[in-house]
Amino acid sequence: MANKFINQIEPWYSQEEKKAILDYLNSRGWLMEFKKTEEFEKMICDFTGAKYCSVLPNGTVTLVLALMALGIKEGDEVIVPDFTMIATPNAVIMAGAKPILVDIDEDSLCLNPDLVAKAITPRTKAVFHVSINGRAGRLVELKKICQDKGIHLIEDAAQSLGSFFNGKHLGRHGLIGSFSFSVPKIITTGQGGALITDNKKVYEKIEKLKDFGRVKAGVDWHDQMGLNFKFTDLQAVFGIAQAKKLPERTRLKKKLYFLYQKYLSGVKEVQFIKTDLQKVSPWFIDVLISDPLALQNYLKSKNIGSRVFYPAIHTQPIYKHVKGQFPVATKIVKRGLWLPSSSFLSQKEVKYICDQIKNFYQNGK
Ligand SMILES: *Cc1c(COP(=O)(O)O)cnc(C)c1O
Repeated sequence: MANKFINQIEPWYSQEEKKAILDYLNSRGWLMEFKKTEEFEKMICDFTGAKYCSVLPNGTVTLVLALMALGIKEGDEVIVPDFTMIATPNAVIMAGAKPILVDIDEDSLCLNPDLVAKAITPRTKAVFHVSINGRAGRLVELKKICQDKGIHLIEDAAQSLGSFFNGKHLGRHGLIGSFSFSVPKIITTGQGGALITDNKKVYEKIEKLKDFGRVKAGVDWHDQMGLNFKFTDLQAVFGIAQAKKLPERTRLKKKLYFLYQKYLSGVKEVQFIKTDLQKVSPWFIDVLISDPLALQNYLKSKNIGSRVFYPAIHTQPIYKHVKGQFPVATKIVKRGLWLPSSSFLSQKEVKYICDQIKNFYQNGK
């Protein structure tokens, strides 16, 4: 077992995707966004319970379009957690607005609503809630603050397909929810993303923005600014085959997390983040430890891949001018490691990985 390198994450597809692509090509499909994309969108609606879904080229332009659809522009402020993927604050900049970084809660790694309330100014137009690894954090409080202040709540639920909160799929607690189908995410189309909403006007605005601002499909008349953020049916065919596996994948993600917790339960150096597996299907296996790089190096020598957490946004070179204190995010990112998280990992592989972690803490170092 020790011979084959276990990647932190790998794409997972098989005969079904291959057959779907071949069938589509044999049918002489036109490749561009059409019926297959609609079918894929319908599957995302059915799975999440959303009324409308717009599939887009990736989970970053989704965020830009969400802001544009809400009319957010230069001079506006959008609140973003200091711990997230760089796409979240960058989308705000692409939309012309200013990202305002706010610290997170230690027990969920999601935005701290108390600090959000303090960061709101007359220019604040939206808050990006990022459900890290399918966890919702204090979303009820955050929603109330947004409602009271008349601010849009947008969910960057890129990591949260298959995760629920208060009986509702993540991405459905605010006005718009965003998902990513990049290779590491729960299902993939190579690159891809989706916006969901129950608001017809917002949905229509998104559909228009992604198609050059056309008054309607097939008509070259433009009463609104827009660009080309359309999907392709070729990817949608792949996505449909992946989406059919969603219930099974989310089950496997939960099982994987459960196994890691079980095998590492006696290792006091490894801390898990509270995760309710009834509701959450964890995207990555995230653990907090004192020296992630040391464990990462050791695991690498045992043919096991891992990934350290994203740096806190305020420490990234392009955001280092940002003022403020972010003690929780700063502390967490120094301790976070993502362990191998491919949904297809066998129980034997998980046990092997956990045995190596135990070795590291017992005598390895
Ligand atoms: C993956 C991810 C994104 C970006 O999605 P892409 O499809 O890679 O553009 C945005 N936000 C979060 C929280 C993510 O995890």
